[in-house]
Amino acid sequence: MKPCQDASTLAALVPHARKPALEAFVDTPSLIASFLCFVLPPVTICYAASCAIWPWKACSTCHGTGRIKSPFGRVFRLCRRCDGTGRRIRVGRHVWNEYRRVHRDGTR
Ligand SMILES: [Zn+2]
Repeated sequence: MKPCQDASTLAALVPHARKPALEAFVDTPSLIASFLCFVLPPVTICYAASCAIWPWKACSTCHGTGRIKSPFGRVFRLCRRCDGTGRRIRVGRHVWNEYRRVHRDGTR
């Protein structure tokens, strides 16, 4: 039997065979890992910066008004979730505040 000399002969003999040079890059776990390595750090840095600049978000219960309207009439009560402020702290800023509190309490 004659040995294969080039990749086109191998591809003609075995149509589903992958090329050895691409084999290391084409598998799905390495694609996912490289995607995460290039995408997650910039996204994390941008989210941390936005949490530092804008630490509040509108309350999802009262939509930022601080009031819960009665189903009838013109009466309302203050939102219990945000204590009537209409603002909630963002998750990233809450995590950062807790980290700073634990660090401050641990170093005193
Ligand atoms: Zn609210």
